[in-house]
Amino acid sequence: MTAHLALWEDILHNEQLIREAAAIAVDAALLEGVLMRTKEDSNSSDVVNYAPFTLLPSIVPSTLFEQAYAVQQDFNLLVDNISQNAEFLEHTLASTVKVDDFTAQLFKIYKQVMKEGLAQSVFLGINRSDYMVDHGADGTPALKQIEINTIAASFGGLTSRTTAVHRHVLNVLGKSKDASKLLDNNPSKGIALGIAKAWELYGSDRAVVMFLVEDTQRNIFDQRCIENELWTRNIRVIRRQFKDVFEKASLDNDRRLYMEGQEVAVVYYREGYVPKNYNKQNWAARLLMERSKAVKCPDIATQLAGTKKVQQELSQPGTLERLLPNQAEAVTRIRATFTGLYSLDMGKEGDKMVAVAIADPERFVLKPQREGGGNNLYGEELKQLLEKIKDSPERTSYILMDKITPQPSMNYLLRAHSPLKISDCISELGIFGVYIRQGKDMVVNKHVGHLLRTKAVEHADGGVAAGVAVLDTPYVI
Ligand code: ADP
Ligand code: MG
Repeated sequence: MTAHLALWEDILHNEQLIREAAAIAVDAALLEGVLMRTKEDSNSSDVVNYAPFTLLPSIVPSTLFEQAYAVQQDFNLLVDNISQNAEFLEHTLASTVKVDDFTAQLFKIYKQVMKEGLAQSVFLGINRSDYMVDHGADGTPALKQIEINTIAASFGGLTSRTTAVHRHVLNVLGKSKDASKLLDNNPSKGIALGIAKAWELYGSDRAVVMFLVEDTQRNIFDQRCIENELWTRNIRVIRRQFKDVFEKASLDNDRRLYMEGQEVAVVYYREGYVPKNYNKQNWAARLLMERSKAVKCPDIATQLAGTKKVQQELSQPGTLERLLPNQAEAVTRIRATFTGLYSLDMGKEGDKMVAVAIADPERFVLKPQREGGGNNLYGEELKQLLEKIKDSPERTSYILMDKITPQPSMNYLLRAHSPLKISDCISELGIFGVYIRQGKDMVVNKHVGHLLRTKAVEHADGGVAAGVAVLDTPYVI
């Protein structure tokens, strides 16, 4: 029996009660602003839906929840150190850039700005480190990192509003004591405060914050949560796309970035993390912003620090110690969250891992250098691809990772236009980190909240935006 069933087992199969609670939950989500634009009308707010979410919160063991929070500042520091370590980035991504065009393009921009010398002196990192709880062979739960997102980490806004929905649902279901135990959570505020501080350190009252956004903006409400916090602090926000930057942005002699005559202090990327975001002009726009003095969140080096290949390299013996010298405790905390990660670089080690994965594909996940969900390969697909590319350098554009297997629990996933049915679910916990460096000095290093996403076990991959996972609230015990 799962922990979840034990907790709310009395209501979980009461069909009428669940149906009533689901209707109440959906209205609560609309009232709280847990919203998304529709697929059909992705650039208009005339018709909107609730963002998909679970009917009930999901259990997260408190020791693991606290562990995830406790390691976040270490990860912030690690990512920031990687972003300043040209030798490490170059060495780690050498094989990847030969075969992966997207990483190669990012790397090319990185090299260009390094050669010219950085005009930027204030650095803002907003990341989200994601975990699942692995129930290993001996049944002991362990917190294991899935990945760290260093660009466009989303849902800090909507998740700030999901807790109130779940509190209401539990109250309605007669579980007020449980409702009162749900933790407050407001990452969008912490993220906005980080942007505000970076804006202040940039030091120009007239300058604006520019959100760089996609041409399809379904998740705009998530971004507005952050945007509105900035406006309340009298910081002006503009939303622009790469094509606007290409057409209308320029640098002055000090490499200050101007957009339609307004100086830009901070560029906050909610775009630019997948190949389809770019054409030739967009790459030129990216380069222009990277060359500028504006605070990019993230700068190109920090985006590269978040690649899957870097994640895999971090798991190699001695790498963390080199990147975090004299910080043995941080290294131990970080390493405890790693599961097996393997390089597929050409050579003996890579050959061996390819053979192991082909023989036992269910043990692994095969990951390309991509973000945004839906790119990884599992099981039979993983096996077939590896068989095809096993002797080609193409294999080096992937990394191999041990598959994490959480214990499923029962829940209802509420999604507009979808039938209400009980599902076996697993969850992924994310912790948001914010840090600011001015020159060499770390002036802010914080965790600012969490995100729990839950999906039905039959989906191997995919996040909320990909239409697989839904928003959830951790019930920490
Ligand atoms: P993306 O950058 O596309 O979000 P992720 O590494 O987060 O890539 O993988 C996408 C999804 O695949 C995750 O949200 C998770 O559900 C699943 N996943 C990734 N790695 C593993 C793993 N090692 N074990 C089990 N599931 C995984
Ligand atoms: Mg992910």
